[in-house]
Amino acid sequence: MTDTPSKSHGRLAISASLTPRDLLSETPRLKGAWCAKVVTLFPELFPGALGASLTGKALQHGLWALETIDLRSFGTGKHRQVDDTPAGGGAGLVMKPDVVARALSMAEIGTPTDPARWPRIYLSPRGKPFTQADAARFAQAEGMTLLCGRFEGVDQRVIEAQGLEEVSLGDFVLTGGEIAAHALLDATVRLIPGVLGNAASTEEESFSDGLLEHPQYTQPRDWKGRTIPDVLLSGNHGEIARWRRAQAEALTAARRPDLWAAYLARKDG
Ligand code: SAH
Repeated sequence: MTDTPSKSHGRLAISASLTPRDLLSETPRLKGAWCAKVVTLFPELFPGALGASLTGKALQHGLWALETIDLRSFGTGKHRQVDDTPAGGGAGLVMKPDVVARALSMAEIGTPTDPARWPRIYLSPRGKPFTQADAARFAQAEGMTLLCGRFEGVDQRVIEAQGLEEVSLGDFVLTGGEIAAHALLDATVRLIPGVLGNAASTEEESFSDGLLEHPQYTQPRDWKGRTIPDVLLSGNHGEIARWRRAQAEALTAARRPDLWAAYLARKDG
């Protein structure tokens, strides 16, 4: 295994390590492990932060797999061109549909066509905002394909032809889809069984029941005159649960009127 992606197929599998490509052959791939295929002009950005801590360990242990497909190697001509000027004029460049489609068909190999079993996502500021429910849905699939845009984005026809689902990280514009893909994958992979040591921790945290999480404290009991709320040290689990819920509700009502209204509607409904 060399560090250079082969131009002929433009595909790398990646494991978590400082020299991930060298270690490829040593990385176990558990049969049927959840797999992310990322189509990008910058495969060297992966696994990046996903190679650290719990997601990184899980990657190393083969609980999930990450493959990058290098868009550049599907470009046309001597310079492997991947973009061109926007039809109708205007600033910037648009990623060509033929190039993107070739890279996506490489990603298709060995994947089920049913989007519930294998979501195909284009990271895009025009997409539906990504939520915890999406992360749970993606984690339940067998894997997913992520297309990272650059420049002004990709030609509309390839989004439609490939039936890509557009997902946004939020109401802001990034220069590329890679950071969005990292965030989406981190949120998704941590929901795969075995990735987090303590499975219960995903059930109690922010968004899982439609509320923001209660505040957290740890030792020391008194830090610069600020003490841990007494109830948390009482050992009374019922009281603690009630206090946490009340805090979560107050925080959600104050900070996220949208979540709060939805929570009340569900509770009353
Ligand atoms: N001209 C586009 C923005 C292109 S930004 C527009 O106005 O809608 C370049 C690439 O960055 C996009 O193709 C997309 O893949 C990625 N990107 C930018 N902002 C994003 C966001 N909020 N969520 C997900 N991906 C984003």
